[in-house]
Amino acid sequence: MMTLAEAEALDARDPLAALRDRFMRPDGLIYLDGNSLGMLPQASVAASADMMERQWGDRLIRSWNEGWIEAPTRVGAKIAPLIGAAASEVIAADSTSVNLFKLIVAALRRDPARTVVVSEAGNFPTDLHIAAGAVGCVPGAELRVVAREELASALGDDTAVLLLTHAHYKTGARFDMVDWTVRAHAAGALMLWDLSHSAGAVAVDLNGANADLAVGCGYKYLNGGPGAPAYLFVAERWQAALANPLSGWMGHAAPFGFTDDYAPAMGMKRWLTGTPPVLGLGALEAALTLWRDIDMTAVEAKSAALFDIMLVAGEAAGLECVTPRDPAARGSHISFRTPDAYAITQALIARGVVGDFRDPDVLRLGLTPLTLSYAEVWHAGRLLCEVIASGEWRQPEFSVRATVT
Ligand SMILES: *Cc1c(COP(=O)(O)O)cnc(C)c1O
Repeated sequence: MMTLAEAEALDARDPLAALRDRFMRPDGLIYLDGNSLGMLPQASVAASADMMERQWGDRLIRSWNEGWIEAPTRVGAKIAPLIGAAASEVIAADSTSVNLFKLIVAALRRDPARTVVVSEAGNFPTDLHIAAGAVGCVPGAELRVVAREELASALGDDTAVLLLTHAHYKTGARFDMVDWTVRAHAAGALMLWDLSHSAGAVAVDLNGANADLAVGCGYKYLNGGPGAPAYLFVAERWQAALANPLSGWMGHAAPFGFTDDYAPAMGMKRWLTGTPPVLGLGALEAALTLWRDIDMTAVEAKSAALFDIMLVAGEAAGLECVTPRDPAARGSHISFRTPDAYAITQALIARGVVGDFRDPDVLRLGLTPLTLSYAEVWHAGRLLCEVIASGEWRQPEFSVRATVT
């Protein structure tokens, strides 16, 4: 097992180390949940205050022409390099759930002969729930949810779209983006990636993989802050052909033409629906300044090293790791399976280490390279071993289920 001195030596030569100071850091907290709700950049605090006091409080409606109306496009363009997209292929809007709905319905309407949405059993719940809702809105459409091993054979000439989450929220297992996009295309289907657990966690190259569509979260690894909207990607070649089923005035070619008939904007703007959430966009835009100069190779290398520290600790504590050992086959968290996962998670939180629990038996620890030091992860590993060896997780209060786990 690595010593604390060795972990500190890694911190001393960590090219990402300086970034930690650019986040709000609660005292005494080791935060291993940035995969679910990212730490808050100080820049987002300042941007939100400016948004409240000056942009809304003072400038009021004039702010629409002073940067607000272009914010979804501008923020989308800043996300684009993190996901291997062109600036003109990404827009920030709504939530991941709503964006999934828009893209799934659009994919189903592209070719009436293709009526099936294929996805993975155990995918993030909202992806499956939204897909079920979307097929319900398109006559004749159907959702086919199958185990990972059966995905390839579930694709066929009836498939409209293959919907996959790139890095699995529970196990962390990552699909090969190139391979699966090729498979979807071989069946004549569109490929829709959910990048919620990959953007900002691992290098993503949508265009390198020739992907068609994608969505993702702003408030997880991107650290977008309170109210950060999600984003969606539509490859250039599909932009004119696909239509947003939630056709609202902000996606209109001329929102301030105030016409009765809908005419979609060209480019990504047609994927907007209603008034953009400017406060959340401002917080997210400020967070993206942190990402501007970040080398994703360094992020991936640090993630892999943090994983190794936590893997050794978890296994020493007798836990079974369910996350792939190959860094290229996973996202940036580590998950352990144990029947006592909930109580162990709570006992760890009581010791100042915040991770989370995923029903029924997974302890999930996020390893976010921008916000964590090697020494923090080392301490978290030590505390995990202590909590288990001492049996303190058996205290009854740690088994009381909260609403959000
Ligand atoms: C977090 C997450 C979401 C969240 O969707 P919301 O609409 O923001 O609630 C969706 N999909 C995946 C894969 C996620 O990890």
